[in-house]
Amino acid sequence: MNCDRLLQGKIPGFETGIEIKKSICTICDPMTQCGLNVYVKDGEIVKVEGSKEHPANEGTLCAKGAATRQYVYSQDRLRTPLKRVGPRGSGKFEPISWDEALDTIAGRLNQIKGEVGPESVVFYSGYSKWYRTFLQRLTHVFGSPNYLTESSTCHNATHMAMRLNGTPGTPDFMNSQCLLVWSANPFHSRTCISRQILTAKEKGLKIITVDPRYTPMVAHSDLHLPVKPGTDGALALSMANVIINEGLYDEDFVKKHTFGFEEYREYVQQFAPDRGGKLTGVPADKIRAAAYLYAISKPSSIMPSASPVVHHTNGVQNYRAIFALMALTGNYDIYGGNIADPPSFLYMAGGFKSRYEEFVHPHRWEEMAPRIGQDRFPVWAELVDEGQAMHLPVQIESQKPYPIKAMLSFGLNYRMWPDNAAFLESLQKLDFIANVDIFM
Ligand code: SF4
Repeated sequence: MNCDRLLQGKIPGFETGIEIKKSICTICDPMTQCGLNVYVKDGEIVKVEGSKEHPANEGTLCAKGAATRQYVYSQDRLRTPLKRVGPRGSGKFEPISWDEALDTIAGRLNQIKGEVGPESVVFYSGYSKWYRTFLQRLTHVFGSPNYLTESSTCHNATHMAMRLNGTPGTPDFMNSQCLLVWSANPFHSRTCISRQILTAKEKGLKIITVDPRYTPMVAHSDLHLPVKPGTDGALALSMANVIINEGLYDEDFVKKHTFGFEEYREYVQQFAPDRGGKLTGVPADKIRAAAYLYAISKPSSIMPSASPVVHHTNGVQNYRAIFALMALTGNYDIYGGNIADPPSFLYMAGGFKSRYEEFVHPHRWEEMAPRIGQDRFPVWAELVDEGQAMHLPVQIESQKPYPIKAMLSFGLNYRMWPDNAAFLESLQKLDFIANVDIFM
């Protein structure tokens, strides 16, 4: 075939010089890394598609992964460090070299450390996430306790609920009779899972989806609970009310593996389906139907989401109420239920011990100043290895218990914060900010 036509078709091979390089997409890491076939010619990406051999995505990609080439070659990408030359907020910057950028950052942070103290420097991570362990170590080696992340208003609440209730583990839905999807939509993110759900559905899986919106996940569900945002905990407690009062719970599992059941039984009495319906916007008969379907179709599993449930006040308790349903029905750590799995992250392969703690904590907490928000959020400070970023504007303004003067941030987008105008205003008071991002 004519080489031009092969090139037009982006056909790999000797004639075109196009090679397929195996890679992974890390846009939504650390949860999923879909396999990529990256078509490369003369060092340039000419095409990207899902890798059929990859066990997670088996050739598919979501819209974000499929747009990898546009992301890499976007005209809007910053290609050199920039230094501000106008007033803050003026948007006036000029390009500088990497050496000048690194010398400026190191010089200013060390100067502020010497004059005010290491705790007055904040290290912050937004997106992406893969480097977080190293940033946390840098923070603590520098002597600052103030390693903050966007997770202060997001997944850390889920993590706290896990620490308090036990991890929900992985839903073994391929072997479940019923799957309760709680505010997740794998058809738009983690698309690899959506295909597995469809396969399980063909084999008879019943699906209940809790979501305020009508999503593709809802379209494939047997029952949709359109919950008012933020009332998820009340919905879970209302389901528990039905499961307990109608004798659908797993008495044996509850006796052997839980504590506090009598207090829990008493607590859920205030969430009868009629009241649950008023609180959550989900009709009482749907709450009853969901409770029955989830409890009697054993084994059943729950697929929680990383964050929508906790993007509200009361996020930790909302997830505790949801996770409790697994134990109540004995669907925990069983085939087809939620499988307890060991912690796993990029730096901590599941099941293996690592020296992570030692790596990120060269100093003990007692040897450093208190973290931002430590006194205001004592449960957070006990369970989470970070400062609480939502308290940052308060401490910048009050300078108590000590002043904050500088920040080195990665992927900081102040607009994600509650009362983001106040957040931005407080940042203006810092003596020095360096932010790492690939777009302005
Ligand atoms: S789900 Fe999408 S964004 Fe996430 S790793 Fe796969 S392709 Fe990338």
